[in-house]
Amino acid sequence: RYQQKIPVKGDDEIAQLGKSIQSLGEQLQYFEDSRNDFLAAVSHELRTPLTYIKGYSDILMKGMYKSSEEQKQYLQIINNEAKRISFLVNDLFEMSKLQVNEFVLDREYSNINQIIEKVITNLQPEILKKGLKITSNLQEIPLISVDPKRIEQVFYNLVENALKYTQQGEISILAYVEKGFVKIKVKDTGIGIPKSDLTKIFDRFYRVEQSRARQTGGTGLGLYVVKQIVEAHEGEITVDSQENKGSTFTITLKI
Ligand code: ADP
Repeated sequence: RYQQKIPVKGDDEIAQLGKSIQSLGEQLQYFEDSRNDFLAAVSHELRTPLTYIKGYSDILMKGMYKSSEEQKQYLQIINNEAKRISFLVNDLFEMSKLQVNEFVLDREYSNINQIIEKVITNLQPEILKKGLKITSNLQEIPLISVDPKRIEQVFYNLVENALKYTQQGEISILAYVEKGFVKIKVKDTGIGIPKSDLTKIFDRFYRVEQSRARQTGGTGLGLYVVKQIVEAHEGEITVDSQENKGSTFTITLKI
């Protein structure tokens, strides 16, 4: 184990070094403990879409389709699955950057509502396919200094979760200014989150009920990445949820 505790007294340079080594040891231990779970989850995540891509591209190459409509449908599946992989890789990449503190924000004055609308447009086909409704109420918000790509990823992860964990009803997004802060809420009418899990869902790899999350295909990285990004912006994320009723994630950002 890396966590061998060496007593560190005082506050001089040697003590500082000792503390750094200890904290590094703790991090290594944490990483080692979660590494196996993590690799299993990642392989699973990759294997499923790859199976689809392989299977449907085989069908297309052998010309085993009856109409151009069917051909298009298979291409669509391949495209969606490739996207899924690219999001996973994106999450992993973001995470590895967070890990090594290479997390530099590329800030510019951005239109938050535009970013939200882009995310809605991107996810709308999947939302409709699942028979859900998505509504938004976006009030006027001044341009704020954020990293637009990272903030887009935050909303994407939240709306994607709302979609994953909701069987019926609707997803709604609100954006408004309150007391000098920008608030964005992503609400769903989904399965909700048990009270005892509410503080843990932002942890790396944490999933409520492994099996359930695995069915919906998750790595437990989404909310971890979301929280890191929001906090890098000196913002805050909170969650409010009731089992079988739904969840609301609220992001507060400085103007
Ligand atoms: P995952 O890839 O498993 O979705 P996340 O980090 O995004 O990982 O979320 C962690 C866990 O929190 C999920 O596995 C799920 O159990 C729970 N969760 C996240 N968002 C929602 C939601 N909108 N409704 C219900 N449960 C949620």
